[in-house]
Amino acid sequence: MASQTDPLRDEPGDAVESSESESALQTARRQLYHAADHLDIDPSIVERLKYPKKVHEVTVPIKRDDGTVEVFTGYRAQHDSVRGPFKGGLRYHPDVTRDECVGLGMWMTWKCAVMDLPFGGAKGGIAANPKDLSSTEKERLTRRFAQEIRDVIGPNQDIPAPDMGTDPQTMAWLMDAYSMQEGETTPGVVTGKPPVVGGSEGREEAPGRSVAIITKLVCEYYDRKLKETTVAVQGYGSVGANAARLLDEWGATVVAVSDVNGAMYEPEGVDTASVPSHDEEPEAVTKYADTVISNDELLTLDVDVLIPAALGNVITEENAKAVAADFVVEGANGPTISTADSILAERGVAVIPDILANAGGVTVSYFEWLQDINRRAWSLERVNDELEAEMRAAWDAVRSEFEQRDVTWRDAAYIVALSRIAEAHEARGLWP
Ligand code: NAD
Repeated sequence: MASQTDPLRDEPGDAVESSESESALQTARRQLYHAADHLDIDPSIVERLKYPKKVHEVTVPIKRDDGTVEVFTGYRAQHDSVRGPFKGGLRYHPDVTRDECVGLGMWMTWKCAVMDLPFGGAKGGIAANPKDLSSTEKERLTRRFAQEIRDVIGPNQDIPAPDMGTDPQTMAWLMDAYSMQEGETTPGVVTGKPPVVGGSEGREEAPGRSVAIITKLVCEYYDRKLKETTVAVQGYGSVGANAARLLDEWGATVVAVSDVNGAMYEPEGVDTASVPSHDEEPEAVTKYADTVISNDELLTLDVDVLIPAALGNVITEENAKAVAADFVVEGANGPTISTADSILAERGVAVIPDILANAGGVTVSYFEWLQDINRRAWSLERVNDELEAEMRAAWDAVRSEFEQRDVTWRDAAYIVALSRIAEAHEARGLWP
C-alpha cells in the first residue's frame, strides 16, 4: 500500500505550477501523462508506470586515506523492466537523492523505448562529492557499493553505466568487484568500460555523434542544406565538442561554441578541431577566441540550429522568446523547461528532445552489452554505422507520429516510447 508520507506517492508532478523548480521525477511523470493523453492505453498501465518497480538504498562505509571511516548513502532506482533488463547511469554527486534517481530512471525507460532498445530504465548513485575523494577512496567506495548492490545488478538484471562524477575507470572497478564475487569475469554487468576490458569503441563520442546525426536528419527533413546551416553549441565537453566537430566536418558552419567561462563567436565559422574540448583542456574555449560573448547571448544568436549541450534548465520562460534559431536539438538532458517549451512551440521553433537526440550513448551501451555477451568486439566503423542506422530508425518512428498527430517533436518521441512500453505491458499482463 502507498504510504501517505512517501514523497514518491504524493504525486508531486500533479501539482507543478512553476516548471523552474520541476524535479526530474515531476518532469518524467508530466511527460508520461502528456503522452498518455494522446494514446488509447489502459489507465492501469499509466498508473503502474508512475512508480518505480524497486528502489534500493544502501549504506556505503569506506576507510578514508587518513584512517577514519566515513559512511555514504547509495541508491539504485529500478523503474520498469517490461522490455528488458534495467539500464541507466550511476552518479556520484552530493545532491543525489532517492527521488532524483527515480525520476532519472523513468527518463531512461522512455529513452530506451524511443530507441527500441531491449532495456528498461534505472538510475543510481552515491550522495558524495567525488572531488573530495582521492582515487583510492573512490575505488574503495565503488567496490563497496558494487558489493551492496550486487544482488540486484547483472547482465540480465540491471546494467549500470557512467554518469556525472563517474567514468570508464569507475565502471572497470565495478565490473571487477562484481566479477570477483561472482567467481567469473562478467563484462556485461556494466557499460562505458575501457575497451581493454570489454568497453566499446565509439562509446565516448556516441552522445555527441547522435546529436550530430539528428541535426543532419532535421536539416534533411526541413529541406535545409547542411552546408548552408549555421549552428551554435553551448558546452564544449563530451557531447558539445563531438557534435560540433562532426557537424563542422559534414559541412555545417559552427559559429559559436562555449564553456562555463563564456562563448567563442566566429561568424565565418569556428575551426572546431583547434578548440580544445573539456577533456583536452578544461574551460579553455574563451582563451582561443577573438570575440567572446556570454552564454546567454549564445542561446539567442540568429543561427539555424541551437544545440544546448552543457546543463539542464538553460532555456527558460525569460529567454525562450529571444531564441532566434529555427531548430533546437537538445544535447544536454532537460535543457528546456516546460514553460519555455510551450513558448518555443507557439513560435514555431522545432525542439528535438534529449531522449532522442542524445540517445547515442545508451545505444552504443547496448552495442557494448551485445559485444560483451558474444565475446566479440566490433570495429569503430561498425559501431558508427549501426549507430547511424538506429538513430535513423528512431527518427523515422518519431517523425511518423509527428506527422500523423500534429504534435511537437517532444510529444511525438514520448508517444513512440509510451506506446511501445504499454504494448509490452499489455502483452505480458499483470502477474500473478
Ligand atoms: P562535460 O563535463 O564533458 O562537458 C560539459 C561542458 O559544459 C564543459 O565544456 C563545461 O565548461 C560546460 N559548462 C559547464 N557549466 C556551464 C555553464 N554554466 N554554461 C555553459 N557551459 C557550461 O559534460 P557532457 O558529458 O558533455 O554532458 C553535457 C550534458 O549532456 C549534460 O546535461 C549531460 O547530462 C548530458 N549527457 C551526457 C551524456 C554523456 O554520455 N556524456 C549522454 C547524454 C546526455
